[in-house]
Amino acid sequence: MHVSETMRTYSGPFLTQKGFIQAQLSVEGGSEESDIWGERGIGSIVDFEEGGAEGIPAIIVPTFYNAHTHTGDSVVKKVPSGTLAEIVGPNGFKHEALAKASEKEMIQALKGYLQDAIDTGIRDIVDFREGGIDGIRVIRTAFEEFEERLRLRIMSRPSQKKYDEWELNKLLSLSDGIGLSSYRDWNESLLGRIAQAAAKMSKPLSMHCSEDVREPIDSVIELGVHHLVHMVEATQDDFLVCVLEDIPVVVCPRSNMFFGKIPDIPGMLEAGLTPCLGTDNAMLSSPNMFREMEAAFRISRFKGEIDPLDILMMATWNPRKALNLPYCIGPSEPRDDSKEDYMILSQPRGDPAYDVVTRKAPDDVLEIVEW
Ligand SMILES: [Zn+2]
Repeated sequence: MHVSETMRTYSGPFLTQKGFIQAQLSVEGGSEESDIWGERGIGSIVDFEEGGAEGIPAIIVPTFYNAHTHTGDSVVKKVPSGTLAEIVGPNGFKHEALAKASEKEMIQALKGYLQDAIDTGIRDIVDFREGGIDGIRVIRTAFEEFEERLRLRIMSRPSQKKYDEWELNKLLSLSDGIGLSSYRDWNESLLGRIAQAAAKMSKPLSMHCSEDVREPIDSVIELGVHHLVHMVEATQDDFLVCVLEDIPVVVCPRSNMFFGKIPDIPGMLEAGLTPCLGTDNAMLSSPNMFREMEAAFRISRFKGEIDPLDILMMATWNPRKALNLPYCIGPSEPRDDSKEDYMILSQPRGDPAYDVVTRKAPDDVLEIVEW
C-alpha cells in the first residue's frame, strides 16, 4: 500500500452549521490510501479558505453522528419476524437471542459492527446498552481497539425491572447515562426512582417514546428526560411540548419501516424540533448513515415536502448541537464548536445535500480529517 504524507488540497461545498459554503482546504498527515482512516491514522486540516476553488473537487461534511443504536443486537443472526412487541419487547425474539449468546460471540459481533460504523464515516455513536453492568463491560472490551477512532456514549439500563440502588449507582458511574426502553414498559414509581438517581449524579436519562402507541408526553417530560427516541405515534402537539421543553428527538426511519411505520420528519421540522438520526437495532439495520439518510428522505415525502439539507443536518450538526451528550470513551472533543471532524467525499454532482443524501455511499468517502 502506498502511504503518502504529502499535503493534499480539496475544494467544493463545505457544510457549516448554517448550510453549505464554497471552501478550499489543505490536509496534512494521515494517509489517502487503503481505507478512510489510512494506515497512519487521520490527517488534519492545516489550511482553510472560504471561497477557494483550487483543489481536488470534493464535498466536505462533518463525520456522521449515529444518535441511536443498540449495538448488542449485532449478535442476533436469525431473520427477525413478528410484531414490534414480539421482536424487541420484553422477553421477545431479541432478548431471547441475547440471553443465549456467549460473551465471546457478543464481543466478536460488536467489533464487526463498530468496524462497519467507522468504514461508513461515523465518528460518534450513542448506544442503548442492555444487559446491566455486564453489558457495559462487554461493550468496553469490544471498544478497546476503536478508542482512537470513535466516540462512544453508553446509555445503560438496569438488568431487571426492579429498584436496585447498588446496581443503579454502578450503572451511572460506569456509563454516560441511562437509556430505557418504552415508557410503558416500566412502572411509574420505578421510573421516578431511576430518574432521581440519574439527576443526583448529573447523568442524562433518555428513553424510547411513542414508537408503537402514543405515550403520555407530559408524564415522560416530568421525569426530566434528556432526549427521546422515535415519537412515531406522537402528535404535532407532542412535538410542540418537546420544543417548549427543549427535548431533542432521535428518529430511526429504517427501524420504523421494518414495523410498517413512518416517522413524521416534516411535521417535527414544522414544529421547530431539530431531529437527529440513528440506525437503531443492529439486527434490523447496519450502522450505515448513508442508507439511513436516504430512507429518511424518501419516506419523509409520504408526509410532505422535505429539504435534503434538513436530512443531512440530522446526521451531522443536529446531534452535535441538540444532544450535546458527554461521553466516557473515545478521542477528545474538537477544539471549539466551529472545528470538527470532517469527511471528504469524492465526485460532487449538483446540489450537494441532495447528492450526499440520495447518491453517496461509503465508497465515496476519500478520507476522514480532523480540524
Ligand atoms: Zn432503540
